[in-house]
Amino acid sequence: MAQAQSQGDLAVVIGLEVHVQLETDTKIFCGCSTAPAEEPNTQTCPVCLGLPGALPVLNEGAVEAALKVGKAINADIPEQTRFHRKNYYYPDLPKNFQITQYDAPICQDGELECTVGDQRRTVGIERAHLEEDPGSLRHRGGSIDSADYTLVDYNRAGVALLEIVTEPDFRGAEEVRAFLAKLEEVLGYLGVFDPSRDGSLRVDANLSVVETEDVDGDDGIEKSVLEAANRTEIKNISSHKGAQKALAYEAQRQKNAIERGRAVEQETRHWDESRGITVSMRSKEEEKDYRYFGEADLPPLRVADRREQIEIPELPDARRKRFRNEYGLSEEAADKLTSTKQVADFYEAVASEFDPGLAATWVADELLGELNYRDMVVTDIEGRLDEIERLVELVAAEEITAKNARETVLRAMLDEGIGPDSIVEREGLGKSSGDEIQQAVESALEENPGAVEDYHSGEDGAINFLVGQVMQRTGGSADPSEVNERLHEELSG
Ligand code: ADP
Ligand code: ZN
Ligand code: MG
Repeated sequence: MAQAQSQGDLAVVIGLEVHVQLETDTKIFCGCSTAPAEEPNTQTCPVCLGLPGALPVLNEGAVEAALKVGKAINADIPEQTRFHRKNYYYPDLPKNFQITQYDAPICQDGELECTVGDQRRTVGIERAHLEEDPGSLRHRGGSIDSADYTLVDYNRAGVALLEIVTEPDFRGAEEVRAFLAKLEEVLGYLGVFDPSRDGSLRVDANLSVVETEDVDGDDGIEKSVLEAANRTEIKNISSHKGAQKALAYEAQRQKNAIERGRAVEQETRHWDESRGITVSMRSKEEEKDYRYFGEADLPPLRVADRREQIEIPELPDARRKRFRNEYGLSEEAADKLTSTKQVADFYEAVASEFDPGLAATWVADELLGELNYRDMVVTDIEGRLDEIERLVELVAAEEITAKNARETVLRAMLDEGIGPDSIVEREGLGKSSGDEIQQAVESALEENPGAVEDYHSGEDGAINFLVGQVMQRTGGSADPSEVNERLHEELSG
């Protein structure tokens, strides 16, 4: 094989298989709950335990979620989609076959654009198909290859998965990371998956090393080159950071092998997060090993009519662009305010009531910062949109100072869960009336004759000192420029 005697520069080729747990209330073929469970093996039934005679019924919610993804990635949706059995024996798979899709997946030939550094890249999506999640294994006393024993939990068996298979379009770990971030963002906008859930997005990465001259030029690599390159499939990558480390490790391992004249074995390897290495698990299965055949218990599903009906929200890139045009936001503000659909919706609700620029400052800079500091997200205060709007209104109407709104009112709102008006009242933050300010000015001048003298002898700092004295007397609620003006008036009068 050419790669084994390579003398030239080597390049990395990567393709991903991303498993996304679709956020449905029940499993894909039975009515068992998918909610996080306290106890193992409590959310199971004859169907997801694979007991003889139990029949699967397809969950409409999973189909709808898959179609939304299909639309978002511009995929072809076939007239009809259908299910196959993929046969293999493993303790997490109670039926000894997985119901999945084979020759008529629900989505085909899509793409997803992402930004790597300052470049736009389009990643081809070969297909996305529905299948059931296997159960989960708990290795005790070690990792998969060293545990004393292993327990199995079937609560996860039968959870709806969408497996998204990319073209081998990645040339490095950085691109993989950018793609996964973009994919998560889009899935979040579609509301089809829960990023906070452990293992809700799991990545298997295929990686091979080829001659640089074979990948150079017009992005596309010859099919023959791809097929000739021995690749490994790395399983068990469960975070973006993990993906980057696993891929960097595996790329180096293969390059070392090739440079030393050894062949890369075509095999499945396991990413051992704690040791930071990939370990060989088994020689790679081939398609024939799985004895695919049609799932006779599920009829083919006509999806042609649905692809037109399915509705998806405006996607992050489009929304980002619209925010910049429509509201005149900076790139940075638009990025922040579209980071999730919830943040974007929240911003637009505030922007519809006030000046969009002021709304952007309050949501992007103040609110998100304070939420982040408290490990909160915008959905935690979804029901309090009117209170945030009221806070911005108070600032816009100059009833409280921006400083007090930010440092006192907003923080108390988040910490104590109460509305802005009661905090303003409790803390006495309402802007002082003209009379109050005038009184404070007079008392400050009376009690600080030294500063008054300094002022008259031309010392610049004196006025600032006096402004501070007045602010103190009004509890910070006076408008500093008004105080300044009144002081000058008094002092020159
Ligand atoms: P298989 O049937 O062996 O799983 P597929 O053609 O379905 O192979 O591809 C599985 C994954 O492997 C896809 O994500 C694809 O992009 C990737 N892939 C294919 N060829 C290569 C290669 N030479 N190097 C790295 N990844 C590859
Ligand atoms: Zn069940
Ligand atoms: Mg495949």
